[in-house]
This record gives sequence, structure tokens and C-alpha cells, in this order.
Amino acid sequence: MTAAVSLHQVSRHFGPVKALDEVELEVAPGEFFAMLGPSGSGKTTCLRLIAGFEQPTAGGIEIFGEAVEGVPPYRRNVNTVFQDYALFPHMNVIENVGYPLMLRKLDKAAQRREAAAALELVKLSGYGERRPGELSGGQRQRVALARAIVNKPKVLLLDEPLGALDLKLREQMQEELKALQKTLGITFIFVTHDQGEALSMADRVAVFDQGKVMQVGAPEDIYRRPRSRFVADFVGSSNILPPEFAQSVLGERRWASLRPEAIHVVPAGEGVSRLTGTVVSRSYLGSTTRLGIELKGAHIHAVVPSGDDVPAEGARVTLGFAKDALHLMESEG
Ligand code: ATP
Repeated sequence: MTAAVSLHQVSRHFGPVKALDEVELEVAPGEFFAMLGPSGSGKTTCLRLIAGFEQPTAGGIEIFGEAVEGVPPYRRNVNTVFQDYALFPHMNVIENVGYPLMLRKLDKAAQRREAAAALELVKLSGYGERRPGELSGGQRQRVALARAIVNKPKVLLLDEPLGALDLKLREQMQEELKALQKTLGITFIFVTHDQGEALSMADRVAVFDQGKVMQVGAPEDIYRRPRSRFVADFVGSSNILPPEFAQSVLGERRWASLRPEAIHVVPAGEGVSRLTGTVVSRSYLGSTTRLGIELKGAHIHAVVPSGDDVPAEGARVTLGFAKDALHLMESEG
């Protein structure tokens, strides 16, 4: 099957800065694909290259099998939703949404009809006559979305589209965006620095660091089997354990990642493992409690269900975990 978007050895350098460096990526048609990484890791540059606002220094990009070198943004069959929405303040909602159709010289009636249909999809029917200044942040976000889908692009690029929203609204929009993507069946490529957002929304996630793609995979894959220390740390939190630890448990001398919630903590003497240590910190998080445990040669965090049996600071405890929870990594870095 032809990929919706593919990047082959794509680099974008700004003088000495390697914003993107030899990136290989394939996004499948109809996929919800997240590009995740810390600030400055190259996600936005990658999105802008796909949109056509930037040109690669090296490498090639294809959209549905067609090389797009030199093709301007408006002829790429992709649309972008920007973080600041970029709505026209002097136009009302229906005119904003219909704008791409006006550029295509559709007649006025068709413009209004299509714009109304797009507004219905984002649940804003009835708001057509308002100006952007008369809307809430969440409603402006929906208008931007409606405008981006009105001419039915094959690929929708979203650059931190929920960044300006408060947490509650953000969570609600996450669900709605996912539902919208299912309804439309088009490819979504979504940039975020929020790992929870990427894991909960995407079919697959690419983790960026310093212009490189460190790992691509399904959310569960990335979370449970991080390839490197960077991915294990950035996606959730993890115990990164030195080679001696895995050697004593699995007999293999490699750096390993162990998720805090995969650890069972029982009073010393009740457990079967040889991993015994002392609780040195305890933070109540509501439904769970985070424990810091000092073992010989390692400091480990465990997250356990809150309750009366959570060991106190200073208590001696034994740790247990399924063998496959201790994930051996390919590299430390
Ligand atoms: P953020 O989450 O903060 O938006 P990002 O992962 O999207 O970050 P990019 O915006 O792609 O990161 O930037 C990657 C690197 O390239 C950064 O070091 C940035 O300073 C640099 N960069 C981006 N655009 C330019 C430019 N036009 N000129 C010079 N350097 C740039």
C-alpha cells in the first residue's frame, strides 16, 4: 500500500543547527500519527516540511506516492491547523470556514453549504454569524479545524492544536479529534510535546530528539519497550537501571527500564525475590502512592495503589515484578 506520507533521509539544517537530521518515516493512509518530543527536537520543522512551508536541505518527501519537491503548500493536498488557529478576525465563522472554497472559486451557495457541513462536524452549527472574537478558545479551535477539513484534504497536519486550551477542554477535544478523524477517515499527523496526549490519541507515535527519530511504534510498544533511555524517560517515567541490575536478575548485562507501576512492594520477608530495600520517600498521589526505595546498588521508584497497607518511610520491603517487565534496552543514550 502506498504511504500517505513518506520521508526518506530528510534533513533540514539552519546553518549549524540540525533541526532535522536524516529522518526516515512512513505514515499510513487513515492513520492517526503523533510526532512527540521535547521543545526544539524538530517536530514542527518536520510538519512544515510535509506542509511545504520549508524545503529540505537533503532527502525526499512523498505524499501518496508523489514527490512533492518544489510543490507549493496549496497544491499538496494537505492542510495545517496551527496552534494559534490563524483565523481572520474581520470575517465571521462561516466566511472563515468557507475561505479555502472561495480561493477555489466555488460559488457562494456551495461555499456556505460546505462550510455549514464542516461546522456541523465540529459541533458548531448555529455559530456561523459570529466573529472569532465572540468565541471561546475551544470554539475558535473548532472553527480552525472546520476550515482545515472543508476542502477535504487527504492529510491533516496539526501543530499542537490543543496547546492553548485548559486541561478539561483539552481532554474533551482529544476525544472529539479522535472521533472526527474516524468519521473523516483521513490521515492525521499531530505534533505534541505531551506524552499523555500522544499515547492516548495516536495509532502510532514517533519520538523525536535533537532532530532525529528515536523510535516509532504503537503507544503500547513505545511505552513498554522503549529502545533507549531517552524514550523510556520521555514517555512516562521509568526506572533506568544499570547493566549490573539486569545481570543479577536476568543474567544479561544490559541497561534496563522498569516502569514504577510494574513493581509489587511487600513487607520484607513476605516476598520471594532477593530484592530487599528500604523505603526512603513516600508521596501520596490520590489513587496511587509513589515510593522511593533504596536497594543495594540502585534507587527505585514504585507506584502502588494507595491504602492502609502502603509501607511507611523507613520500612524494609521486598520488590517483585514479572520478568518481562524488566525491559532490556538497545542503548543507554
Ligand atoms: P517546539 O515544541 O518548541 O515547537 P520543535 O520540536 O517543534 O519544538 P522545531 O521548531 O522543529 O522544534 O526546531 C528544531 C530546531 O531547529 C530548534 O533548535 C530551533 O531553534 C531550530 N530552528 C527552527 N526553525 C529555525 C529557523 N527558521 N532558523 C534557525 N533555526 C531554526
